[in-house]
Amino acid sequence: DTLTAVSVQSCFDYALRLFQARLNEGEITIERRWPETTAWVRADPVRLEQVLVNLIGNALQALAESPSPCLTLAIETTPERVSIEVADNGPGIPEDHLARIFEPFFTTKSTGSGLGLGLSISGRIIDDLGGRLEARNAPGGGARFTITLPRDTGPD
Ligand code: ADP
Ligand code: MG
Repeated sequence: DTLTAVSVQSCFDYALRLFQARLNEGEITIERRWPETTAWVRADPVRLEQVLVNLIGNALQALAESPSPCLTLAIETTPERVSIEVADNGPGIPEDHLARIFEPFFTTKSTGSGLGLGLSISGRIIDDLGGRLEARNAPGGGARFTITLPRDTGPD
């Protein structure tokens, strides 16, 4: 298969490079809460990057109207697991949508700007790696997506 030891920090770097132009023109504050030590997971790097691009893309769309937009990207490790967080201080997700946003084709965006597939595909990718993708609203407002994956020891 295509599973290898993947650095989560590198995947975030890739996703941020992809959005670089858009991030430079706006006043979005990016808060990186990453450990110095590389967080390794076993994954297909292209797919994990795709998931992070989906989550960051959603966050940037949610921040479009925010007065002081902030994107938080965090990595935390335990001996067994790695948790990866993408959070924004946008409007958050209405409670009655929280259970439905992972359904294929569920979208609140106008035609053309969203197909409603990003989260369902991302959820599948993370499930296939033996992990979880969860959505919550942050107490202070905004949406917070957390990926939890088994921790890997890194390349041999
Ligand atoms: P799409 O982005 O094409 O609408 P997604 O599957 O990526 O499809 O997301 C589904 C829905 O989840 C979005 O239409 C939106 O209603 C909600 N959503 C996802 N991320 C966020 C976020 N960061 N803040 C608020 N709502 C969100
Ligand atoms: Mg999306």
